[in-house]
Amino acid sequence: MKNKFDDILGTVGNTPVVKINRLAPEGINLYAKLEAFNPAGSVKDRLALGVIEDGEKRGLLNPGQTVVEATSGNTGIGLAMVCAQKGYPLVIAMAESFSVERRRLMRFLGAKVVLTPAALKGTGMLAKARELAETHGWFLTRQFENEANAEMHERTTAQEILRDFKGEALDYWVTGIGTGGTLNGVGRVLKAERPETRIIVCEPDNAQLLGSGIPQPEAGSEGDVASHPSFQPHPMQGWTPDFIPKLVDDVTDREHIDTLLAISGADAIENSRNLAQQEGIFTGITGGATFTGALKVAETASPGSTILCMLPDTGERYLTTPLFDGIGAEMDDEEWAIAASTPNYQFDNPPPAPAPVSATEASTPAASEDGTA
Ligand code: PMP
Repeated sequence: MKNKFDDILGTVGNTPVVKINRLAPEGINLYAKLEAFNPAGSVKDRLALGVIEDGEKRGLLNPGQTVVEATSGNTGIGLAMVCAQKGYPLVIAMAESFSVERRRLMRFLGAKVVLTPAALKGTGMLAKARELAETHGWFLTRQFENEANAEMHERTTAQEILRDFKGEALDYWVTGIGTGGTLNGVGRVLKAERPETRIIVCEPDNAQLLGSGIPQPEAGSEGDVASHPSFQPHPMQGWTPDFIPKLVDDVTDREHIDTLLAISGADAIENSRNLAQQEGIFTGITGGATFTGALKVAETASPGSTILCMLPDTGERYLTTPLFDGIGAEMDDEEWAIAASTPNYQFDNPPPAPAPVSATEASTPAASEDGTA
C-alpha cells in the first residue's frame, strides 16, 4: 500500500493498534490504539478535521473566516494544524492552568491563544470562546456538542477498530471521556456491529461526574454551561471537564456504557511511566489512566479475553506536569557512577546548572484546574 499524501490532513487517523506484552496479565490479550500517531500527536486531530470539514460543507465556515474554540490543548493543537493547512486564522480560549507547552505548540502552529483565569474553570473558557464568536462573527467549532466530532469517530476510529479486529474476538473496549466524541462515535458502531464488546468508560476517581448519578445541572442562561457538583480538579488533562458534555449525555441516554471505572491520578501516572519504560509506548496521563482501566478489566476478565484501550496522546505534551516529576535534567548518583566507571571524558567539577525555568513555567500549577479537552 502506498503511503504518500497530497497534504498533511490525509495522514489523520489510521493509527496503529499495538499488543501489550510485558505489562499484560498472563492469558489476557491486551491491545492499545496509539492516537499519538496522528500528525499533531493526539486523538483530537480527528475531531479538528471533522468539525472544520463539516463547517465548510454546511456553508457555516467561509474562506478566510476566523475559527474559535475553547480547549485545554489537544483540540487547539489539532485545530491549529488543520487551520494552518487550510488557511483559516484560529483563536483559542484556554484556562491558564493547562501545561505551557500546549500554549506554545498552538502558537508555533500559528494560532492566537487567549488565556482565561483558572478560577473560572472549563466553563469560563467556553463562555469566552462563545463571546468572541458572537462579537466578531467567528466560526465556533463547539467540540463538546458538535455531532461532527462523534461522526468523525464513527467514520474513522470505529471503522479502524472493526477492520483490525475482523474475525477476532474483542471482548472489551476501554476509553475515557473528554468531549465524549470518541465514546459516542465508536460506541454506537460497536453496539451495532460488535454487540458482544463491552464498553468500559473511565473517569477520575475524584471527579466521577457520571459515577455520581447526578445529572448535569441546567445553566442559568441560554448557551451557558453550569459546573457539575461532583467536579474536582484532577491531573488527567483532557478528561472530564467540570460539566457533562452533550455528546456524553447522548451516550448515557442510549445506555451505551456497560461499566464505569474510577481511576486515580497516581495510578494513571505510574502506568504511563510503566508503558514508556516496559513497553516503549510513550503516552500522556489520560493514556496511563485508560491503560489502568484496561488492567482493572483484565483482573476479572476470563482467560483468553481480548481488551482494547485508547491511548489519546503522546507523553511529550506533559514535560512540565506531574507526569515528569522526579525525571531530572541532571545526572543522578547512578549516572555519576557510570560516568566514573571508565577513566576519561569526565567533569573535573559538576557542569553548571541549566538556566532556571521562565517565570511562566515556574508559576504553572502542578495539577490542572480541570481537564477540559
Ligand atoms: N485524553 C486526552 C489527552 C484528550 O485531549 C482527550 C480529548 N479531550 C481525551 C482523552 C478524550 O477524547 P474525547 O474528547 O473524544 O472524549
